[in-house]
Amino acid sequence: MDRIPARPDRLPWQRRLERKPPRDRAKTERHRWLQRAAWIRCRDYKLSLDPLCEDCKEAGELVPAQQVHHLISREVDPAKAYDRDNLRSLCLAHHRIRETALQAERGGRS
Ligand SMILES: [Zn+2]
Repeated sequence: MDRIPARPDRLPWQRRLERKPPRDRAKTERHRWLQRAAWIRCRDYKLSLDPLCEDCKEAGELVPAQQVHHLISREVDPAKAYDRDNLRSLCLAHHRIRETALQAERGGRS
């Protein structure tokens, strides 16, 4: 059997892409999306409509919401990313609970 020829040296930018696992790139993409002016406006508007955590409110507690959660994640349905009916104001604790549940549904991967 012939020996596999040694790979030519990669250019620095190629090496950088290879080193980054795809999960990190997905995170970077997510981070960029969250910085988008359209999303920030949408999120602030939602928080102005529902300034209290909606999950806490259902449990009879009044806790200020800090994050806006997508009920159907935008990865699943990008058309619902700015849909007010798909958004829920949540406190940090409830947002974490819901995100963890979503990740478990997706098979434990983020
Ligand atoms: Zn809450």
